[in-house]
Amino acid sequence: MNSKFPIFVKKLDCLNFTDYYGLNSPGLTCYLNSVLQVLFMTVDFREAIERSCSDDPTPIDLHLRRLFEDLSKSTTKTHSVIEKLGITDVYEQRDAAEYFEKILHLTSPGASKIFKGELNHITRCLHCKKSNDSRSFFWMLPLVVEASDHHAYSVKQGLKTFFKRETVSEDNRMYCHQCNQKREAEITCEMTRNPKILTLLLKRFRFDYKQKCFVKLHCEVEAPQTLKFETCIYDLYALVNHYGNLTGGHYTAEIKSFETGEWYNFNDDVVNMHKPLFGKNNTFRSRSAYLLMYKQRRTCSESSDEDKLEAQCAHSDVAAEGRSCPVKVWSPQGHLKTIPVRANATVQELEERAAMELPEIQGQSVQVTSNGQTLEKSKQLFQCVLPSDTIQLVLKVRGG
Ligand SMILES: [Zn+2]
Repeated sequence: MNSKFPIFVKKLDCLNFTDYYGLNSPGLTCYLNSVLQVLFMTVDFREAIERSCSDDPTPIDLHLRRLFEDLSKSTTKTHSVIEKLGITDVYEQRDAAEYFEKILHLTSPGASKIFKGELNHITRCLHCKKSNDSRSFFWMLPLVVEASDHHAYSVKQGLKTFFKRETVSEDNRMYCHQCNQKREAEITCEMTRNPKILTLLLKRFRFDYKQKCFVKLHCEVEAPQTLKFETCIYDLYALVNHYGNLTGGHYTAEIKSFETGEWYNFNDDVVNMHKPLFGKNNTFRSRSAYLLMYKQRRTCSESSDEDKLEAQCAHSDVAAEGRSCPVKVWSPQGHLKTIPVRANATVQELEERAAMELPEIQGQSVQVTSNGQTLEKSKQLFQCVLPSDTIQLVLKVRGG
C-alpha cells in the first residue's frame, strides 16, 4: 500500500508523535512520569495550575506550571519536580499511587480539589440506634482486587463491595458513647462529595503469608467505560499501567486527550497513538491497569454548584492573595452567602469577613457555629470544619 510515497506515509505517521511529548526519565522514574502525564492531560487540573498565582513557597504549583509549559512544546525533563518531591535516588522503584497522592498533597487546594472527594462512614449502634458520622476526604478509592482463575475482577462489583453495609459483632464491636459500652453496630459508607475526577486504585499488591513477602496479582480486571453514582456519571479517560512485579516493574499511562478525542500511550519519552480502549460492550479488560481515572460529566447538578462557588471566588479580591476557599455562611437572619477566606484563616477572620459581606450583622456580637458547635475564635477554620460544611452565625445573647 502507498509504496509510491513511502516518505510521505512515514511523515504522516510521525505527525501522531507530535500531538504530545514524553518525559525523560533520569533513572527509573516511570512511576512519576505516568502520573505527571495524567495530571497534564486533565484539562481542569492543567488550567487550575496555569491560573494558580500562589506566593506560598510550599505548593508544587510553580514547578508543575513550568513543567506543563515545557511539555506542551517538547520532550521534557522532570528534575525540578523530582527535587521538590524529595526523591534522592532516581534508580529506586516507587509506587505511582503514592506519588500521585504526594503531588496532590503539595498542590494548592484550588487545583487539587478537582481530585478530592469526601466519604462519610456512618456507624449506627444496633442497641440504641444512635448513629455517628465520620467524614474524611480522599484522593482515590482503594479497591481490593480478588484474583480468580475463572473470571476477571469486576471494578463495578468492587465498588459495590466498597460501599456495602457492614455489621460488626463480637471482637469487632464498636464503642457506643450513648450506651457507654461496646455494641454491635452497622457501618455504612457514602460519598458525600463527588470529586470532579474519581480515581480508583486497584490494589494488586498483597502480603503473601506463605511466601512472607508482598506479591503482585496479575489477574485480569474488567473496568466499565462509565460509572454512575446517584446523579453523577463518570467516564474513564485515563489509566496508569504497572507491568512486572514489585521489585522490578514499569509504569505507563493510557490517556484520552480532551483536545483531540484520541487515546495515547505515554511511555516515558515515547508517546504513541493508541487504539480506543472501549469496544462495543463499553468495558475493557487488562492485566496491567493499576490506577483508573474517571471524569465527571458536566450535567451533574453538584458540579455546577461547585463551579458557581469557584466563579464567585475567582472574582473576589481575596483570591488574588493566593490560596483561598469559599465557605457557605448562614446569617442569623437566614441569608446564605458564599465568603472566600484564606485556606489557613482563623475563625476570627471568617467572622470579620462575614461582618463586611453581611451588613445585617454589622455592630452585632455573633458566634461562629457549625453542626451546633461553637467554634473557638483563635482556631484555624479548616481544622474545625470541612470546606463543604455550612457555617452558621448565631447572635450572641447579651450578658451570655
Ligand atoms: Zn448505643
